[in-house]
Amino acid sequence: MDNHQPTKPSRRKFLYNLGLAGLSLPLISSESNCSTKTKSNAQAMIDKNNKAGKLGIALVGLGGYASGQLAPALQQTENCYLAGIVTGTPSKIPVWKEKYGVPDKNIYNYNNYDSIKDNPDIDVIYIVLPNNMHAEYTIRGFAAGKHVICEKPMAITVAESETMLAAANKAGKLLSIGYRLHYDPFNLEMIRLVKEKIYGEVKSIDTAFSITPPKGAWRLNKKIAGGGPLMDVGIYCMQAVCYVLGTEPLATTTKTYPVSDKEKFIDIEETLDIEMEMPGGIIGKCRTSYSENQSYLQVNCENGWFRLEPAYFYGGLKFSSSDGRKFEIPPFSQQAKQLDAMAVSIKNKQVSKTPGEMGFRDMKIIEAIYKSMNTGRRVELK
Ligand code: NDP
Repeated sequence: MDNHQPTKPSRRKFLYNLGLAGLSLPLISSESNCSTKTKSNAQAMIDKNNKAGKLGIALVGLGGYASGQLAPALQQTENCYLAGIVTGTPSKIPVWKEKYGVPDKNIYNYNNYDSIKDNPDIDVIYIVLPNNMHAEYTIRGFAAGKHVICEKPMAITVAESETMLAAANKAGKLLSIGYRLHYDPFNLEMIRLVKEKIYGEVKSIDTAFSITPPKGAWRLNKKIAGGGPLMDVGIYCMQAVCYVLGTEPLATTTKTYPVSDKEKFIDIEETLDIEMEMPGGIIGKCRTSYSENQSYLQVNCENGWFRLEPAYFYGGLKFSSSDGRKFEIPPFSQQAKQLDAMAVSIKNKQVSKTPGEMGFRDMKIIEAIYKSMNTGRRVELK
């Protein structure tokens, strides 16, 4: 299952309610609790990985995605490893130390985050924070002289994402967006079938991604999330239309509906139906909602159709087609594939398949979609 539900950050929630979430309290020094054996094991792990030429990654924000997906994936990667963590919740530290052997010298909070610049173990910073914190922590990451991977959506406005690109350029470092499905074999197969015209020309694309976050989740707060389901899961649909076709939208017409629960959906959309006009007269129909559960991607061509359902989860993706074609492969970690590919790009000083510029493009599409939603008009993308 795609776990887009936040974890239970009790201390964080407490700080947030007090309006103190941006501040960091001093971390409990866990050094004193750490046995000499654990310390030397942790250092040995770092030394071994550094020696093997793996890039050291620091995860920033130890929530659902970092702990459920990225950290386990970093145990499988060949080109990078989990070297450090940045957290505002001291109670998480012993668990991460125990599970992943992260040494004390590589553990940071949001106040001393900038001093990561002096840490040679850390080559790449991976931002896994709520959306409204992406820009600030990416820019600070570049100021610390590190490469940055930032989770989707890149930011909450086009203007913010522009400042992130400028920071990357100024630092001469690489920025990638955590669009994991560009590295997923099932989605890559969808791209191949289109590219090689196996079913002829594409006529239309139909896709949906919807989840149901619980009341109180930051995803429902416009200030933090930047918007509703479009920012969180609808972005996968608009991404899929672009990567499957290999083109960018010319215009969008987007429709929303009255919300079913005014306390839950205070200032965000509940459901959107988005039409993306793509080159060649192809329409990409995307539906996204915080009141439904759906995850599919269907490509309709002259000579048949092919489909993923689920299409956007972390695993268990299923392919089907009008002619019964099969696509099955042994289990793998999407995140490990993504992280390894990004690490190779960084080592080769090349932009990844999902660079900051792609995140910037998507923020422009998102703004056009919201403009169309708000005006009820067709909005062209220049
Ligand atoms: P969570 O709420 O589970 O975790 C966010 C973490 O950020 C918290 O646990 C906390 O970590 C830290 N944090 C710092 N300040 C705050 C604050 N004010 N409020 C809440 N948390 C705060 O979110 P997710 O892990 O689900 O999502 C994080 C990012 O990753 C989002 O941008 C999301 O869009 C993206 N994501 C991407 C996925 C993908 O498939 N590519 C899947 C899921 C999410 P700490 O206590 O350590 O400080």
